[in-house]
Amino acid sequence: LNRRLAEFGTTIFAEMSALALSTGAINLGQGFPDTDGPEEVREAAVRALRDGLGNQYPPGPGVPELRAAIAAHQQRRYGLSCDPDTEVLVTAGATEAIAAALLALVEPGDEVIALEPYYDSYAACIAMAGGRRVPVTLRPDDGRFRLDLDELRDAVTDRTRLLLINTPHNPTGTVLTRAELAAIAELAVERELLVVTDEVYEHLVFDDAEHVPLATFPGMRERTVTIGSAGKTFSFTGWKVGWVTGTQELVTAVRTAKQYLTYVSAGPFQYAVAEALRLPDSYFDGIRADLRRKRDLLGDGLRTAGFEVYEPKGTYFITTDITPFGEKDAHRFCRALPERCGVVAIPNSVFYDDPAAGRSQVRFAFCKRDDVLHEAAVRLRRLA
Ligand code: PMP
Ligand code: GLN
Repeated sequence: LNRRLAEFGTTIFAEMSALALSTGAINLGQGFPDTDGPEEVREAAVRALRDGLGNQYPPGPGVPELRAAIAAHQQRRYGLSCDPDTEVLVTAGATEAIAAALLALVEPGDEVIALEPYYDSYAACIAMAGGRRVPVTLRPDDGRFRLDLDELRDAVTDRTRLLLINTPHNPTGTVLTRAELAAIAELAVERELLVVTDEVYEHLVFDDAEHVPLATFPGMRERTVTIGSAGKTFSFTGWKVGWVTGTQELVTAVRTAKQYLTYVSAGPFQYAVAEALRLPDSYFDGIRADLRRKRDLLGDGLRTAGFEVYEPKGTYFITTDITPFGEKDAHRFCRALPERCGVVAIPNSVFYDDPAAGRSQVRFAFCKRDDVLHEAAVRLRRLA
């Protein structure tokens, strides 16, 4: 393993899902639903396979039907217009979009500011691009992980190339407010920074929270690469269909890197995701309502079991604090959890540059069937 990757071992998701398998514990670790997405979308994939749509290499930027559907979705939901031929790129999940964007836009030695705790592929991809990561840490404040805008401003130097933003935010469940996003946008414009914004949880927002794409703010369209994914919105994480939207110049840059990573991603699924993106608003309202209920179900269970709960406004994760159990090491706590009570969770410590910063935080996924969440709540009470 080269020096750039030396600090990156097995991802926490592989470690904890393997632990769930070997112990038979309920897996509330890795974020994937235990119920597949809509039947008609699955049927569309079957139809595409059967009709020979996408069984051979699809076009590099993605099949035209999907690019058109992505552009139409951005227009319908956010009033953002993008040209499906030049401003949309289909990727192998958001994971590849993140990698390709960083490989395309970061020069060796450039600083990349990312919101910490961060999704684990960010650090690895910044490293592969030869960049230097600069964390700006979201901190608990009145029950919510909050971005300190002064800290963000202070983190920008002459070497800063890019802001890597994620909202709704994994793992904390924070949804950046319109005012916070406006401040980020102003900073990016003022300091002439590029922004890569990971908005894969765009549809999974609850209560009064609203997802506002960064690209909609003044001066942002020309400097923003927006990343989406069918995995989260449609509950098909195994299909690995993601996308990038932005100006022709930025999308062309990302595409240049993408060509040599995977060239293209699976064809038939692209046709099916095109249909998914055209689902009526009732689908999007439905998944949001369903997940909000599940958030409350698991949240109540965790509180009853003794966890301190940071109620998420988005994503399908709840970050908790394990201090009430007298625990000081989230990773150790998570390794022991299956044996103690038959549940698997993710230690947020791995999402911090300094694991000590997140040592009391543990993340639970609630994108699971109600009976599974009920059973998990019963088991977690054994910790008391
Ligand atoms: N970004 C974030 C914040 C995520 O949580 C995930 C998936 N867990 C991804 C990107 C990757 O998405 P995909 O499965 O589409 O590659
Ligand atoms: N995004 C999901 C999570 O945060 C899964 C990621 C993965 O398996 N790489 O749990």
